[in-house]
Amino acid sequence: MTNDYSLNPRNFTTVRASPYSCGLAGVKTYPLFINGEFVAPEAPATLDVLDPATAEVIARVPDASAADVDRAVKAARTAFDEGPWKDATAQDRGRILLKLANIVRDRAAELAELETRNTGKPIVEAEFDITDVATCFEYYGGMATKIHGDVIPVPDNAMSLALREPIGVAGQIIPWNYPLLMASWKLAPAICAGCTTVLKPAEQTPLTVLELATSFHDCGLPPGVVNIVTGRGETAGAAIVEHPGVDKIAFTGSVEVGKTIMRNAANTLKKISLELGGKSPNIFFADADFAPAVEGALFGIFFNQGEVCSAGSRILVQRPIYKKFVDAMVEKARAITVGPPMDRNTKMGALVSREQFDRVREYQEIGKQEAKVAFGGGRATSIPGAGVLDKGFFVEPTIFYDVDNHSRIAREEIFGPVACVIPFDSEEDALRIANDTYYGLAAAVWTRDIFRAMRVVKNLRAGIVWVNHMQPTYVEAPWGGYKQSGIGRELGKWGVEEYLNVKQVYINLSEQPIGWY
Ligand code: ADP
Repeated sequence: MTNDYSLNPRNFTTVRASPYSCGLAGVKTYPLFINGEFVAPEAPATLDVLDPATAEVIARVPDASAADVDRAVKAARTAFDEGPWKDATAQDRGRILLKLANIVRDRAAELAELETRNTGKPIVEAEFDITDVATCFEYYGGMATKIHGDVIPVPDNAMSLALREPIGVAGQIIPWNYPLLMASWKLAPAICAGCTTVLKPAEQTPLTVLELATSFHDCGLPPGVVNIVTGRGETAGAAIVEHPGVDKIAFTGSVEVGKTIMRNAANTLKKISLELGGKSPNIFFADADFAPAVEGALFGIFFNQGEVCSAGSRILVQRPIYKKFVDAMVEKARAITVGPPMDRNTKMGALVSREQFDRVREYQEIGKQEAKVAFGGGRATSIPGAGVLDKGFFVEPTIFYDVDNHSRIAREEIFGPVACVIPFDSEEDALRIANDTYYGLAAAVWTRDIFRAMRVVKNLRAGIVWVNHMQPTYVEAPWGGYKQSGIGRELGKWGVEEYLNVKQVYINLSEQPIGWY
């Protein structure tokens, strides 16, 4: 089959086959996006992109090589060092981001559908994601004109300034769970700060950001500012991390790959920010409002099929309500419709890939050895009313109880809809179990006791803590982990700092010689 590269973005159209009938004949091969143009890669190798609900190939993307990465980095370098980005004002950058936000809103239905087809997540959730993408571009559009330095009082006849300048070319490597949202979390602050970027989407989910790139020209983004290179982590991703022309790496993904990136980035001493995994505790005290608490336990782990870095995968429940709580979770879990992602009644879609499906299935089996099954534990095939799920990567929402915090299912990140319920006695007990993990991304505590809530908030070693909720977050607030869950913070005013350098300027105001010699 020949590759149909669309070199002109204006002729570039979405794959518009119906979600469940896309045969190979309708499969489009996407190009790379470098220096403002859709271009063919150096070599013809491609990666298949699947619809995880049917396991059918819906598109192909270039399996980019180090040579392609080099071309993208050179475009980003030139735009940053020589122009046109170098000369863009903060107002220019802000306006571009605001236009991009509007374009995302205009294209929201199309982008949400494509996101659902490529990730397997329910369409209703994808629609929220795309709204958040627009909000992210909008927020950093407003921030572009508010980045400024400091004037520092100094004891001599001099003026001391701290300028804040863009760091340069950012290499941005993102995961598959929130493809376009993660792209916006990376691109928006970088553009806001005045950086240029080379972004690599995950090999499983490259489509929405490539589609968004068809609008970059329309929002006034100059060539070379954002370059998108698809490909595998160990080749294209590694080439970005090792390239001497890249000044900074922003990565979201697994702890293992985060460690590899940190090691590889050390050769060129790049600045790095890492947003990694978690095994986040969701803690329920006996006095918590029962019904919202039960729903919060399920929402914390089953939202987005549990493919969430902040998933509340360890559910700690105080003993007086333990049995009642597990029973209520099971009762409520029965109402979670696992179904075709494009169906608006679906509450849980497919896992993103066969690899992820196999991984979650394996943990379901490990869990059966290590703990007791309260609900689920297998592949989702014939849930009444959901239709045929046999071809796709669907699993049952799964609840294990009487889980030991030292067991594998309680220690290792599963990144799927697998809940571990762990009993505890006292507040000290809860904190000890909650903090007994290498991770430290997120945590939540449910109680009506304000004293207890605040004590627990203070003592949890995690970068994000919810009280009487779990998962909602805002672009204005910092996102990132303690311990092995990462380095640095995304979003809010913190997110843009990761793309800025500080330059100290000393301006001598005395016209006299120093008088030293
Ligand atoms: P997951 O395990 O959830 O698939 P990964 O951490 O493996 O997540 O992948 C997240 C992103 O990191 C993807 O875009 C992937 O291609 C990329 N990646 C994987 N390995 C490397 C590597 N050695 N260097 C750079 N990027 C990598």
